[in-house]
Order: sequence, then C-alpha cells, then structure tokens
Amino acid sequence: MNEISREELKKYMDQYQLDHTIGDLTPTLCALFGVPEPAECGAAGVAAVVDQAEHLTGRPGGIARGLIFCPDAVGEVHRQKYPEKLARVEKLAGFRIPSASVMPSVTPVCYGTIFSGASPTVHGIRKYEKPVLEIPTLFDVFAEAGKEVAIVAVNGCSIDTIFRRRKVDYYSFRTDAQSFEMTKKLLEEDKYDLIISYYTSYDHLSHKHGPYAPVSEDALETAVRYFEELTALTERVWQRADRVIAWVPDHGNHVVDEHSGTHGTNTPEDMVINHFYRLRAAE
Ligand SMILES: [Zn+2]
Repeated sequence: MNEISREELKKYMDQYQLDHTIGDLTPTLCALFGVPEPAECGAAGVAAVVDQAEHLTGRPGGIARGLIFCPDAVGEVHRQKYPEKLARVEKLAGFRIPSASVMPSVTPVCYGTIFSGASPTVHGIRKYEKPVLEIPTLFDVFAEAGKEVAIVAVNGCSIDTIFRRRKVDYYSFRTDAQSFEMTKKLLEEDKYDLIISYYTSYDHLSHKHGPYAPVSEDALETAVRYFEELTALTERVWQRADRVIAWVPDHGNHVVDEHSGTHGTNTPEDMVINHFYRLRAAE
C-alpha cells in the first residue's frame, strides 16, 4: 500500500463523502482474478464486489474473464439528468459504486489512477498530457500473472497511449463504432482473459456541443446500448467462465456555455462518478 497514494485518494473521497475512489478498480480486479496489486496502489478493493465473487465462485480470486467498458466523462450528474439510461446499466450490473475522481479531473490523470490504483502525484500524470506511465499498472501485474489482456480504443486517446510498452495487445481505430466491432470480435474469439473497451464519443461531443446537446445525449444512448449488447454477448461466449463486466468512466463534466462543455475542476459534476460491476458464475 503506497501511503502517498492512499492519502491523496482519500482526500477526494472525504471531500465528496464517498467510500470509494476511481482507483478502487485496480485492486478490485486484482482480487477478483487472484493477481497481486501493483506496488504503488493506494486504493482498496470494493469489498461488496469481491465478497460476492468469492460467494459465486466458491473461492478467492476465482474470476476467469473480464470486460471493462470505459465510457469517457459519464458522471453521477448524468445519472441524475438521464435516470432511465443509467438505470439500464444498473439493472444489468447489480453493483453501483459511487466513487470520487482525482484532480485535475482530465482523462489521462484519471485513467492513470483507475488502472494503477496510484494517485496522480505517484503515477506522475498531473495535467492533460499522455506520457507512457512508468509505474506498475494493472496491465503489468496481469501480464506477470500470465493473463492475456487487450485494450481496444480510438487512436491516440489516453487509454491507447499511456499504457503502452506492456505485454498487452493494443487495438486502435479511428471511431468508437470500429472499437465496438473489434470488442465483439475479440469476445467471440475468446483469446483474452481481460478486455478493456473504451468509448470516447460522449466526451468528445460534450466538449464540442455541450453535455446536454441532442448529439451528446445520442452518444450517451449509444454507450448504454453498447454496454447492453456487449453484456448480452458475454452471456453467450463466456457462459462457462466465472466473469465480471464493468462500466468504468473516469470523470463527469459540466456546461461552459450554450454550445460547449468541459471538465477538470474539483466540483461534484466533474468529480462524482459511478462504477458499475456485474458478476456471473459459470454455468
Ligand atoms: Zn475523460
């Protein structure tokens, strides 16, 4: 447990009176798959999720397959605004884990924390920049444990960039639609233990047209539909595997003016988000 990470992550949890940080994703996945946590982790596994997995599989670390869907910039504020959309995610998932993001609440800083469990001071990305992370991440410990991992994302985005140079297969495309198709193909082939599938369109359109513009709402609807379709596919292709499916955004966003939105501030709209987990046992 890295104490600097712990203190920094806790600061935002305390500020927003939340029991979880976005960094909890990494220790949670490590516990589910029976893999050691990365060295600089200061976050903690989500006990409710880890306990339920142990109950379902009959042992600790019994999960064999995972799909992590990452819709950029979908926060608690969007669940308030579009309750029926996020209720569809919650219905499939079962677990909704309200979590505090980190500062500055921009994509590479946040996903750096999400996939390492380390705070920004410790992982080293402290502004909007996309260097390859130097510290151990989820991808390092999964590779060391012999797990096969794929990252599917649009070209040059944070997730496509900052976790390079690991024993991971990187699939990068120009559009979310192509990433979605590749995610389905990889699920069908069942070559991977863990697949990360990133979705950028809601964030992209929110910056350009505003978080609540019709085109942005359409993109959020597409994210929910992708999650539904991918979850349905896992029910078929991973039927014989103990498995986890998760909805893992990085931060929220807020309105700037009539035509644009942004994020990066230490305010509830940007900092309070939900991670959702779905666990299923092999049939
Ligand atoms: Zn983002």
